[in-house]
Amino acid sequence: MTRIFSGVKPTGHLTLGNYLGAVRRWVEVDQYRAEALFSVVDLHALTVEHDPARVRRLSRQAATLLLAAGLDPKRCTLFVQSHVDEHARLSYLLECTATDGELRRMIQYKEKSVQARAAGQSVRLSLLTYPVLMAADILAYGTDEVPVGEDQTQHVELTRDLAVRFNQRYGHTFTVPRATRPEVAARVMDLQDPTSKMGKSHANGSGIVYLLDDAETVRRKVMRAVTDSGRDVEYDREGRPGVANLLDLMAAATGGNPEALAGVYQTYGSLKKDTADAVVELLRPVRERHAELAADPGYVDQVLRDGALRARETARPLVDRAYRAIGLLPAG
Ligand code: ATP
Ligand code: MG
Repeated sequence: MTRIFSGVKPTGHLTLGNYLGAVRRWVEVDQYRAEALFSVVDLHALTVEHDPARVRRLSRQAATLLLAAGLDPKRCTLFVQSHVDEHARLSYLLECTATDGELRRMIQYKEKSVQARAAGQSVRLSLLTYPVLMAADILAYGTDEVPVGEDQTQHVELTRDLAVRFNQRYGHTFTVPRATRPEVAARVMDLQDPTSKMGKSHANGSGIVYLLDDAETVRRKVMRAVTDSGRDVEYDREGRPGVANLLDLMAAATGGNPEALAGVYQTYGSLKKDTADAVVELLRPVRERHAELAADPGYVDQVLRDGALRARETARPLVDRAYRAIGLLPAG
């Protein structure tokens, strides 16, 4: 059976980008058609300046939101990365497989290290090695498919390279995974800055729709979205990124096609209004279910405990095999 792995980092509140780029497919498709594992990848949240209490809170919130969005613990495995030691164990072997040059070429490393320095912060070594840990997250489960947003393409490519290299050097050990992306909204852009992607850890939240925003806030953010001074509604991601982003959102929320939708609207105003309504309706059930689940943290804890147990059982034999393959003496 196909195996799927994907995750979200508890670096901030989950966004509409996370939902449309990744989570919605996990819920609607992936958990039904494959053996799927989804993780709140908390170790990755330590790669940038962090507040311990906030990371802990956001980890629980992310898990609760994933359940609220519709992950069913009977159909998939939901767990917290740090509860399963195999990720860190395997990451070290992959650090011995990767080169510093290939990690320094990662776009997200370049962007996030510039951001950290601009904020007067030092760049943690783990920010550089983050894609290796991500490769370990994926490879530890013999993953075939990784449903992610477009921004993760380069990291999944690196994961493939590391798997192939390890297999060539030490004998076949890892499945070589591939990324899958949604047809629309694989890259949701920031509503205030439609040339950069909507990201949950961005400092300014006014262009970000969070899954837990109330209806009024969502409407306000969408209505204030930056467009351009043109008039005709056209789908042109390069030339008119703001309008294209709204068309993508509208298409993703209603199941339409962004090019076809462009022909339906005469003004930016009417497009914004309908998009705002569509996004509000899309998120309403998630927010309502989150409120119910948040009232029962014991249930979420239980799901995460069971999930970690299952994840560990799946990962351990494969990671043990990798330890032997690379030349480490098994414990007697
Ligand atoms: P951070 O800013 O901390 O990197 P993030 O919002 O990028 O946060 P991640 O936890 O890195 O969130 O990514 C979780 C998933 O959401 C990944 O599959 C990623 O590709 C997807 N994703 C993130 N942002 C977007 C976006 N703007 N559009 C589509 N998919 C996205
Ligand atoms: Mg990200």
